[in-house]
Amino acid sequence: MSTFKAPKGTYDLLPPDSAKFLAVREAIAAPLRNSGYGYIETPGFENVELFARGVGESTDIVTKEMYVFETKGGDRLALRPETTAPVLRAVLEANLHKAGNLPVKVWYSGSQYRYERPQKGRYRHFSQVGAEAIGAEDPALDAELIILADQSYRALGLQNFRILLNSLGDKECRPVYRAALQDFLRGLDLDEETLRRADINPLRVLDDKRPEVQKQLTDAPLLRDYLCDACKAYHEEVRQLITAAGVVFEDDPKLVRGLDYYTRTTFEFVHDGLGSQSAVGGGGRYDGLSEMIGGPALPSVGWALGVDRTVLALEAEGIELDIPSVTSVFAVPLGEEARRVLFSKVTELRKNGVAADFSYGGKGLKAAMKAAHRSGARYALVLGERDLAEGVVQLKDMESGEQIAIGVNEIVAELESRLG
Ligand code: ATP
Ligand code: MG
Repeated sequence: MSTFKAPKGTYDLLPPDSAKFLAVREAIAAPLRNSGYGYIETPGFENVELFARGVGESTDIVTKEMYVFETKGGDRLALRPETTAPVLRAVLEANLHKAGNLPVKVWYSGSQYRYERPQKGRYRHFSQVGAEAIGAEDPALDAELIILADQSYRALGLQNFRILLNSLGDKECRPVYRAALQDFLRGLDLDEETLRRADINPLRVLDDKRPEVQKQLTDAPLLRDYLCDACKAYHEEVRQLITAAGVVFEDDPKLVRGLDYYTRTTFEFVHDGLGSQSAVGGGGRYDGLSEMIGGPALPSVGWALGVDRTVLALEAEGIELDIPSVTSVFAVPLGEEARRVLFSKVTELRKNGVAADFSYGGKGLKAAMKAAHRSGARYALVLGERDLAEGVVQLKDMESGEQIAIGVNEIVAELESRLG
């Protein structure tokens, strides 16, 4: 072991388990690529103000969880705790919203950093795949995103997840509700900090996870009863579209989510096998965010799915992803000259698209065959001194154990035809 360990709240992705993470990212990305979303990548850090304004001054993310630092040049930056605000910043900066058709639809995949209390499913470095559809107000777009996330989870074989859905209203109806909720909260027995939060952003109090707070919220007024006609109609349309797509969801009138910028449609994917870190993904409409960060009005909707928790959800359901071994052929040279010959054959196989690996370090036959088995390769190529003299190589089928000699010059054609 080295003197160093991964920092608290982080962990390394190591083979072979790391293949699961790649597969999850891929499973989430595939339906997006198939639906007009283009790939976007933004820096791992941004001006801290982008998050303060975009995510919200009163959120846990901004008040407690951000990694903030000052550069030698005097810039105040933060490691990104989320990627929606950065994506919108990038789209506005590049004027993508002016370039062509709205909405601009993009997806991303990457690390997020939050200074949280580490526990199972809650880390300081974690990874998300997210999607954003920027610049259109259309219930079909909200529905599309919910349907695509559902499709990703289904493609992974997950079953024990639920979709919680709510509407947070808009700038017409939310202020009226906000005032009513504030009145209600002032009458409760809450600590200083929570009362202060009730003043700045009362909806966030609904998201408080503490039982002593939740207990007092049973009779809280619900946004559902305050929605304006436009919001009601919009929400009803989203519900109908996802229902028609066969997506099952639950109405959750208390769902608010942790970020300040959501309006109207909000949703969360929860998994029942994960204990208290049950949210595997979430998202919603954020019609006001663009203006909050200095852009024009650009109604938008998006989600972020947590890769780490999705992997935990797979484990909780006992799902083994079908991840085929990458290596098809494992080459075992016995002796100096065999090493040269076989190494160039392996290079040739690789150039021809056959996944091949090689026994390095001058191992003997026994150790090399062990490595061949461990690699999961379908075939082994063994080249000894006598084979070399005869211009052949032993081709071993690792499943049946069958072994035949083929000409050294036939290796590539033979394996290509066998592997299809
Ligand atoms: P939570 O309520 O669990 O803190 P959140 O509302 O902060 O979640 P979002 O900001 O909506 O989460 O992020 C979307 C997804 O990213 C979550 O559903 C979760 O799967 C994942 N996620 C968020 N924070 C963490 C973390 N600290 N470690 C691992 N995954 C996380
Ligand atoms: Mg959180």
